[in-house]
Amino acid sequence: MPLPDDRSGDAVHDPYAVTLDTLRTTFRSGRTHGLDWRREQLQALRRMMSEHREALSAAASQDIGKPRPEAELAEVFTVVQEVDALLDNLERWTGSRKVRLPLTFQPATARLQHRPKGVLLVIGPWNYPVQLLLSPLAGALAAGNTVLLKPSEVAPAVSSLVADLVPRYLDPEAVAVVEGGAAEATALLAHRFDHVVFTGSQRVGRIVMRAAAEHLTPVTLELGGKSPVFVDASVHLRTVAQRLVWGKFLNVGQTCVAPDYVMVTPEVHDALVDELRRAIRAAFGRDPRRSSDYGRVVNDLHFDRLLGLLEGTDPVIGGEHERSERYLAPTVVTGVGLDHALMQEEIFGPVLPVLRVAGVTEALEVVEANPHPLSFYVFSEDAQVRSRFEEESLSGALAFNLPVAHQSAPGLPFGGVGGSGFGRYHGEHSIQEFSHERPVLSKPLRPDTLAMLYPPSTRWKRLVNDRVLTRLMGVRKDA
Ligand code: NAD
Repeated sequence: MPLPDDRSGDAVHDPYAVTLDTLRTTFRSGRTHGLDWRREQLQALRRMMSEHREALSAAASQDIGKPRPEAELAEVFTVVQEVDALLDNLERWTGSRKVRLPLTFQPATARLQHRPKGVLLVIGPWNYPVQLLLSPLAGALAAGNTVLLKPSEVAPAVSSLVADLVPRYLDPEAVAVVEGGAAEATALLAHRFDHVVFTGSQRVGRIVMRAAAEHLTPVTLELGGKSPVFVDASVHLRTVAQRLVWGKFLNVGQTCVAPDYVMVTPEVHDALVDELRRAIRAAFGRDPRRSSDYGRVVNDLHFDRLLGLLEGTDPVIGGEHERSERYLAPTVVTGVGLDHALMQEEIFGPVLPVLRVAGVTEALEVVEANPHPLSFYVFSEDAQVRSRFEEESLSGALAFNLPVAHQSAPGLPFGGVGGSGFGRYHGEHSIQEFSHERPVLSKPLRPDTLAMLYPPSTRWKRLVNDRVLTRLMGVRKDA
């Protein structure tokens, strides 16, 4: 990728003009449209991930304090799995699909064709700095686009490693990396892209959407929010607690789909808290601070924010903290009201409020009071209870008896709804999101069946058209 230089008058004022010009020229050349190029890029991305598996996980650990095995799985393996799904299905997912036309169009044929959109901007967050930057990249390349990546400045080791590796593996005229924070992202967003994929907070999501609106650029907003959990008495509480502890304290709760709070029916409230205590001890030992499986809060800002949220509470589990290493123990708080700060914003840390609710109706009311969540987790073996959540709630995803994991299944679209964002990606859904699905219609010139529609509207034409319309609009067999 050519560096910004003084060959272009614009580049003097705009450090990204040359880079963006290259990405656009490459796209217009048509090189990225062919399936061979797409396959080569995906294979190169896969090589990059497997040859630098150690370095990528180490960088994520260094930046976020993530345990290494967790980083390998969530940062590296998830991207490889995504690339594999795209490689295995590339032709099928990018191919066109026939569409049947009504009688009035005949003779004619129609199909839906996937056209790459052009130059995509991917802005990544810090909490899964590799996965949430490179999974959208995989989909964007599979769809035949050129891509500019803007990693999060809060994960500097990952950012500089990605900036170093990407030009060594991927077509340097089709994929570029710009490092930096808000200032760089703002400068980039002043340019016209053909699609922007943003993963991050609701606050910045609004800024990104406003900037994209200037160019009428479509956006995928992968935002956060409060993902609720419901637990009733029909379940095996020990397993539920183990799964909740795994999903909540993974990356010390700094996961967009982490269970944010638990609503539990009164008869199993105390038993669930006891099982959570037991599961935390089993996972991280007597002193989680010494556990190599337990991470750290990303920075002082977030650490202080979390302590602020805990102010005035009396945790039933955990609560211990050590600012010098940004350690906050796995913490469970009970008895908080809906007006407490913990219930007003996304927690994004290792604090789990457990609330008593009378049953499904009250749980649904609590959830409805907030924007639609990214994920909703229901632990119940009762088919009627499950069906009420399916029929009466709206969320990015709904999972029964399993938190977090749906996010890594390439077959399932990942994305929010309402306040948790919009647009969806992963697997086939990435191809749909990062392509334009264009209808292509073709009609022979002879016989000219349109002749009856051309003016002038003679008496005979009106008569025949009227007969046809009356027949087509007549009574349906099933109506
Ligand atoms: P953030 O919004 O602070 O930053 C995200 C990205 O936006 C970074 O690359 C940052 O440099 C950039 N940015 C910052 N200010 C900007 C500005 N003014 N204009 C343009 N870009 C700007 O988010 P974060 O703290 O990195 O991530 C945490 C949030 O992300 C949480 O809310 C979490 O729930 C959410 N999240 C969502 C998903 C998802 O897939 N839905 C995944 C991970 C995280």
